[in-house]
This record gives sequence, C-alpha cells and structure tokens, in this order.
Amino acid sequence: MAIQKTLSIIKPDATARNLTGAINARFEQAGLRIVAQKRLRLTLAQAAQFYAVHQERAFYNSLCEYMSSGPVVVQVLAGEDAVALNRQIMGATNPANAEVGTIRRDFGESIEHNSVHGSDSEENAQQEIAFFFSGLEIVE
Ligand code: ADP
Ligand code: MG
Repeated sequence: MAIQKTLSIIKPDATARNLTGAINARFEQAGLRIVAQKRLRLTLAQAAQFYAVHQERAFYNSLCEYMSSGPVVVQVLAGEDAVALNRQIMGATNPANAEVGTIRRDFGESIEHNSVHGSDSEENAQQEIAFFFSGLEIVE
C-alpha cells in the first residue's frame, strides 16, 4: 500500500474537553503524520456543504448544527494506507460499538458526538482535503 493522505476533523465535543493533544497523540503513535492542521469554527452553511452527502439522512440537520456549535480542528494525516488506518484508529461510528482503545470508544460521547471525522475512501479524502486546505498549507 502506498503513502496516502486523509482528512481528519477533531469535532466540537472533543475540542470542548481539551482533547486535541490526546487525540493527536493517538494518530502519531499509530504512525500517521499530521502534515496540515488548523482550528476553525464552521458556519452552519459550511457544515451543510461538507456533509451534503448525508442530506437525506434523518440526522443531517442535527449533525450540521452540532458541527457548527464550537471549534473544530481540521487536519491532513499522511502515512502508509492512511485512509483505512485512520478509520481503524477512530473506531466504529457509534462509540458504544467501537473497539476498546479506539478514539471513539475512549473519548466519544454518543453516536453524534463521536469526537472525530475521517475520510472513508481515497477519492473522498482528496475532495475533503481540498475543501479545507490549499496545496501550500500541506507540508510533507
Ligand atoms: P462516520 O463518521 O463513521 O463515517 P457516517 O458517515 O455514517 O459515519 O456519519 C457521519 C456522522 O454523522 C457521524 O460521524 C456522526 O457524527 C453522525 N451520525 C451518524 N449516524 C448518526 C445517527 N444515527 N444519529 C446521529 N448522528 C449520527
Ligand atoms: Mg462518513
């Protein structure tokens, strides 16, 4: 597997509890490199655009309100098989179903407030990285 890049978001529930460093340590310990990172607050419209793929889902409005409710840290993670590796480190969507030792199991509060986002394919990773970062901001 080649070196890949993936988009990660540390969500408002985690920034509110000052968990940015603890979550970043999980990525670095697993061999992922943080090659771009910034803290920002999404507007409702930006959250709705980012999660447009979910617009038919019952949780869409709530998810967009939540993701714009406080600061997030958006980041690009790079490494061998980074998309799948990050999904493994994150754990299942619902913290209650996530394996012990994953970010969502250890830090997530609920299926919505599950502490992190991670791209689910290399194609989506490229689109999601381009949503937040210019090439100049990614330093490998
Ligand atoms: P993942 O983040 O694991 O890729 P999805 O893409 O299916 O999961 O969902 C995107 C986000 O929407 C989840 O991370 C979570 O914050 C929220 N979400 C997913 N399913 C639900 C649900 N049933 N109820 C409330 N929020 C949900
Ligand atoms: Mg997803």
